[in-house]
Amino acid sequence: MAIKNLERVITPSGKHYVGDGFLVHNIIPGSQGLSMQRISPFIMMDYNAPHYFSPSNTPKGVGVHPHRGFETVTIAYKGKVEHHDSSGGGGVIGEGDVQWMTAASGVLHKEFHEKEWSKKGGDFQMVQLWVNLPAKDKMSPPKYQSITQAQMGKYHLSNHGGVIEVIAGQYNGITGAASTFTPVHLLNVRMKTGGKAEFSFPNKYNTALLVLEGSITVNDKDTVPANNFALFKNDGETFFIEAIKNAIVLVLSGEPINEPIAHHGPFVMNTKEEIMQAFEDFNMGKFGYLE
Ligand code: MN
Repeated sequence: MAIKNLERVITPSGKHYVGDGFLVHNIIPGSQGLSMQRISPFIMMDYNAPHYFSPSNTPKGVGVHPHRGFETVTIAYKGKVEHHDSSGGGGVIGEGDVQWMTAASGVLHKEFHEKEWSKKGGDFQMVQLWVNLPAKDKMSPPKYQSITQAQMGKYHLSNHGGVIEVIAGQYNGITGAASTFTPVHLLNVRMKTGGKAEFSFPNKYNTALLVLEGSITVNDKDTVPANNFALFKNDGETFFIEAIKNAIVLVLSGEPINEPIAHHGPFVMNTKEEIMQAFEDFNMGKFGYLE
């Protein structure tokens, strides 16, 4: 199988607040060359690099807002997030856990630092990824998958090199916990210094990785340090990474959804008319109610 080479390494630029609880780099689609089409089905990635939040009796976060047409995937690395939505779903995303919310036809939700965590404050590190839905599934019913670290499939690397947590898709026969609408592989790789891992995905799948801690080399030639994002070319299938020092790496690969994208704020549909319909439905209260 041919080697999948890196296209480029992206050092995220400026940060901004989402609400008052998430201080994020918008990597997708904010970085040049990372349009929603280029890296479909991953259409948005906000990365809250490690940031200390001081203790607060009023939890910080984002108040009630709608989504339609896609899924939001929240991965908590440090800190805890409490979530509530208008379909009655809710819960706490603890450290190491993932929340996979299918907004689809529409939900209202809110995302805040968990109450007790907020009182103590601490280091906060989080990824939110939006995974697009194909036209035929955009108006399917909302659902919610709460995936704890313990529920994830795990693959142990050779020579005690670390572990790969399979959030979605599969790795070397280990299947992920999340169900997805289109083929998506989402892997959390926790590696010890010197640990090595090989990956293989169809060349047409859009593939990238985010280094959350430590530093790695890709294919023995490119170095990707912490808080950097690396985009692969669609030229081959196989690549390998090695940890230069203890590393945490999020690997994402998915089959592109080759459909038109119409995007406005919290809505991602196929046409402008569908976006207008989303605003109308939202204004009419058709997304439900959430205090
Ligand atoms: Mn949201």
